[in-house]
Amino acid sequence: MRIAVIATYTHPTRLRIKEPSIMQSSVPELIAGLCPPHAEVEIFNEKETDIPLDRHWDLVFFSYLHSYYEHTKVLSTLLRQRGMKTVAGGRHASYFPDDAKAYFDAVITGEPEANVPALIEDFEKGQLQPLYNRPSLGPTAIRPYRYELIDFTHNKLRLPGIEASRGCPFTCNFCVLTGNERYRYRPVAAVIDEIQTRMHWNPNFMGLMGDAFVFLDNNLGGSPKYLRELCEALIPLKKTWGCALTFNVLKDESLVKLMAKAGCRYVYTGLESLNPDSLKAMNKGQNKLSEVDAVIRRVFSAGILLSFGLIVGSDGDTNEYLEKLPTYLADLKYFSVTFLGIVCPYPETPFFRELQAEGRLLPGTVSRDYDGYTLCHTPKNLHPSEVVEHFNRLCMELGSLPNIAKHYWSKLTMSDMPRYKQTILFSGPEILSIRNPVKNKARRYIAGQDSLEAWDVEQMRALALQPQRLT
Ligand code: SF4
Repeated sequence: MRIAVIATYTHPTRLRIKEPSIMQSSVPELIAGLCPPHAEVEIFNEKETDIPLDRHWDLVFFSYLHSYYEHTKVLSTLLRQRGMKTVAGGRHASYFPDDAKAYFDAVITGEPEANVPALIEDFEKGQLQPLYNRPSLGPTAIRPYRYELIDFTHNKLRLPGIEASRGCPFTCNFCVLTGNERYRYRPVAAVIDEIQTRMHWNPNFMGLMGDAFVFLDNNLGGSPKYLRELCEALIPLKKTWGCALTFNVLKDESLVKLMAKAGCRYVYTGLESLNPDSLKAMNKGQNKLSEVDAVIRRVFSAGILLSFGLIVGSDGDTNEYLEKLPTYLADLKYFSVTFLGIVCPYPETPFFRELQAEGRLLPGTVSRDYDGYTLCHTPKNLHPSEVVEHFNRLCMELGSLPNIAKHYWSKLTMSDMPRYKQTILFSGPEILSIRNPVKNKARRYIAGQDSLEAWDVEQMRALALQPQRLT
């Protein structure tokens, strides 16, 4: 039996561009790890490489984000026309199983560990069902990834990724996890064993990245006690790693030092805003702006690069705040932004329900618009065109060469920990990538006003597919 697992992708510019980077979707390796040993499995990540649509597989699993849905429907339809069976899984499929059933032979809702093996068993018996919704088996059921299938020639920067936990204990109103997932974590011994015995390392750059990996968790610090245990167990491995976690964890100086000792060199945290009114509107009370400066200095001094994500367009934002944002950032000497987006009301979130009840979702939006770079609603204090104007300007200002120079100049000498300087140098291109989403000057960045990617439009017309309308 031949199986393909495909993580699909379309670029925020809606141009046909690949964007290989350090962190990639690891769903293909995860699903491959749940396939039986007799299956011949191939994995693809469309962010790194095109999908060879002329190839034949018996069964094709698709993993996609909300905004890739239309594109994934096209790929699925083309493969089904050639006799292959296709499966949709992930958050969008779990929330819209009835819609997805029209374009895929089977839909998995919920976690893959219980559902993928059952689906494959049914497929081999010729009894594939349209819907698989077995309940979660818990975090102990997470199987080791098939790291050996990663092709590091497609993406020279890529690091292998592992999950230690899933979910998040916080309840930010725009987050897809809120109300949908409780926080849970794997036994530390299982995580350590997977790193030691299964992980395959990036061989590029003369072995410079050969001991490095990333935790894929939404919030590795969801339980500080668990994070401590994990760090203690990581120390003897002498690996270098990065993770995402919430700002509150970084206030614990002893934990930050322990993370650094365990090999942590990169932390991403979604600060989202420097505007207290916006943080309040997002229900993001764990971010305390008065502590930002001290926390940043402490984390860098420990030997960890701390990078932030910001979003614009939330209900507390005003023209004054967005105009002054670069000045606020300049005042925080050590602040590094590596992601800038527009707040997105994903359909399964409290934010979407609030906007829907208040009639503030923009008309004509389709699933493609829910990409975190397109305004899908009318904010309380700003006209949609003002949000887009600020977003474009800020992307160009923050993702600039002078900003990288400032980043290197202010951070390179802050710590002598091994691999610290190397991590700082590798992070420069990440800052530059902030401007990538706005590189298509013809794009409006307002829901319902941009057409889909030209290739998808053409294929959807030929295949008589309609986009999923959300308003
Ligand atoms: S802290 Fe991050 S992962 Fe947790 S609910 Fe908020 S946005 Fe989601």
